[in-house]
Amino acid sequence: MSGDVFLAYHPLYDGRGFSPLTRSWGRYREARALFAKLGLDRWITTIEPPLARIDELTLAHPPHFIERVRRLDAMGTGPFDTPDTVAWPGVFDRARAAVGATMEAVRRITQGEAIHVFNPGGGLHHAFAERARGFCIFNDLAIAVRSLSQAGFEKVAVIDIDGHHGDGTQEILYDHGALHISMHQYDGRFFPGSGSVDETGWGAGHGLNLNIPLPRHTGEEAYLDAFRSIVPTAIRAYSPDVILLNFGVDGHHDDPLVKLRLGIRTYRFLAIACHELAHEVANGRLIVTGSGGYDPDVVSRCWSVLIATLTGQLPDVPALSTRLTLDAPSREATSRAILDALGRDDAWPQPFGCLLDRQVPTSDPKAAAIVGATIHRIINEVLPLRLTRHDASNAIRPCFPGLPSN
Ligand SMILES: [Zn+2]
Ligand SMILES: [Zn+2]
Repeated sequence: MSGDVFLAYHPLYDGRGFSPLTRSWGRYREARALFAKLGLDRWITTIEPPLARIDELTLAHPPHFIERVRRLDAMGTGPFDTPDTVAWPGVFDRARAAVGATMEAVRRITQGEAIHVFNPGGGLHHAFAERARGFCIFNDLAIAVRSLSQAGFEKVAVIDIDGHHGDGTQEILYDHGALHISMHQYDGRFFPGSGSVDETGWGAGHGLNLNIPLPRHTGEEAYLDAFRSIVPTAIRAYSPDVILLNFGVDGHHDDPLVKLRLGIRTYRFLAIACHELAHEVANGRLIVTGSGGYDPDVVSRCWSVLIATLTGQLPDVPALSTRLTLDAPSREATSRAILDALGRDDAWPQPFGCLLDRQVPTSDPKAAAIVGATIHRIINEVLPLRLTRHDASNAIRPCFPGLPSN
């Protein structure tokens, strides 16, 4: 089982998508073509999920909202709650397909049939309980968290690295005991507008909503600093039963919607780190969702990096694990060393060399300074609410050496 990745892929993914950027609708087909070209399809078990049932949707959405989506589908036109997300004939089933695939991942994982499942059409994190917007209608992440809780996997961590704040997930889970981490571009105005450090959850969720807001033009180094300084500590302290990784890749510098300056190296790092964290704390249980990403070429390359990492087809990057520590002598120097290692040719053996960016974006110094101050604030003000470090040995264990073989 280990080494294999299950791909939950609904045939409706080959058709129309939710965003008005029509070119992005082809990202699923393009990604699968690239998986095949790279030989990754041999390591993928593709499963065709059923559409989500109404009782599954009601885990996060009231019946009147679900009925409204169905009605707008029948009308075949008109906006949902904001002009960016509109109805068309078939949109109801397309939205159910996205949720159905994440729920199939939940079933496989709770029944012990899989540990890594990727739903490229999931991660609809802007969907609120009663509001569809931001190309998102039903929030599969929140539905999955509630469903996992019901199945006895009470501690679920969502790591949302999409370039936009996971506002819908935050709203639905704000008083839930799940850990919700969102790293995103933020300035108070950039869509969706929310996602400040101060939004920390309430009730059972107090201290478990962890926003990592980043200014526009944040580059790879500053991004890595933020992730490494905060996320492993929070995940270890919370110790989830399952990790949901919302692997939106619109923070890539070539993406048309988000103004972060991330590259393929960043996504390789994130895939390695989240995969290793899943094996360290959650018995490998990792559900990955595709979320945002609007340039099919970028999306295909990032998702290939993800699959190649989860299946062990890309080689380990020596010493990267031990560098995922809070106590490295200099944060900046460590991030630079990791990025250098991830950019070297030997980290990308054939046929994977084609995935690397031609040009690596640089960080804006002002943005990097703001990120530094934000990291400091989160470590001192937010993590202590509920997510303090539980031990000093912060090295992430590598996945594959410790795994049982097939
Ligand atoms: Zn996004
Ligand atoms: Zn694994």
